[in-house]
Amino acid sequence: MKRAISFHYRLTDSAGHEMDSSTGRKPLSFIEGMSQIIPGLEGEIIRMKQQEKRTIVVAAEMAYGLRRPELVIKVPRAKLPKADLQVGDQFRGGAETHAPIFKVTDLDATDATLDANHPLAGQDLTFDIEVVEIREATPQELEHGHVHEGGHSH
Ligand code: ZN
Repeated sequence: MKRAISFHYRLTDSAGHEMDSSTGRKPLSFIEGMSQIIPGLEGEIIRMKQQEKRTIVVAAEMAYGLRRPELVIKVPRAKLPKADLQVGDQFRGGAETHAPIFKVTDLDATDATLDANHPLAGQDLTFDIEVVEIREATPQELEHGHVHEGGHSH
């Protein structure tokens, strides 16, 4: 049997800045063993109990990976999707949902430097976790590969 686990989280970077949080929103849910959340987090949460709170530090390698220098590329400005892009702007490199996000990190007269690393790559992440609910996943959830909540059906 596989379990459906929901939890609240607060994510901070190594300097203690909050980067994301589920506070005020619905908890995040996943079905264990399906790689729906980062591996370093799943490995710890599946050993927690309902209502338990813990702080979990996930090394970059077990979170969004290390930064890959080959994902930083230089392209002629004429090839950018928009003419008025500024340093710091981001755009998706294609129409597909999983197309990489490029961030403009430098611009000169002729070329743009783009970085396709995940914004959290190379960072050790600290999660304050509170497990909200642990229950058995339903056959339909296992079939769909995601958690159904609050009467969601299709
Ligand atoms: Zn479904």
